[in-house]
Amino acid sequence: MRLRNVKGAKEAMIESPYVVNEPKEYKGKWKEVFKNENPIYIEVGMGKGNFITTLAKQNPNINYIGIEKYSSVLIRGLEKRAEVEKEEHITLSNLMFIRMDAEEIEEVFDKEEVSRIYLNFSDPWPKDRHAKRRLTSTTFLKRYDNILKADGVIEFKTDNISLFHFSLASVKEAGWNLVASTEDLHHSPMNEGNVMTEYERKFSSMGNPICKLVCNRSN
Ligand code: SAM
Repeated sequence: MRLRNVKGAKEAMIESPYVVNEPKEYKGKWKEVFKNENPIYIEVGMGKGNFITTLAKQNPNINYIGIEKYSSVLIRGLEKRAEVEKEEHITLSNLMFIRMDAEEIEEVFDKEEVSRIYLNFSDPWPKDRHAKRRLTSTTFLKRYDNILKADGVIEFKTDNISLFHFSLASVKEAGWNLVASTEDLHHSPMNEGNVMTEYERKFSSMGNPICKLVCNRSN
């Protein structure tokens, strides 16, 4: 997703107190950003931010970081954050954002610094030669392995069945443990407490079943 010509998006990122502009400086020090010891959950490729903003509202004792590659998209997350704070009369001090390419994730988070990673409707990169760019490739699982706590979890949702099967194979190849999976989330017990993303709303309203997997490294 890339929204073009969002005027002032880059400036808004720099000025916002909720965007960490030099995230590599905080490697190993994210607790200082939030000023508490609460666990850190991240969403990689957060898009317009409905999912992570809703989770931050529901779980004030968890710190959330939304990661997005493009300023033009991340600015929508900032707007969503402000909208929720205003409507609910709350302060989402547990929600921050980073504009970065997830390829650099190990330079931003230290070993065991992250407790949970959400990947929602990640870009499918359908050409074989781009498979390593998929956020559920073994290349990315290796990166996540270097930042996740020993009992850390990844949750992945998509409506793209090819990407889902590829991801199941990656989990197996990387030696991770498949905790749960479904190819029809909205009609599955795994749907309990599900928070919909923007893409999830769009694709499920078109009749596409939503797939979900949860994996970790412990048995
Ligand atoms: N997660 C949102 C949802 O479910 O509605 C957005 C899904 S959209 C298809 C994928 C998003 O991931 C886009 O906003 C894109 O810019 C972002 N993205 C893709 N690759 C990324 C990467 N390597 N690092 C950070 N963000 C990425």
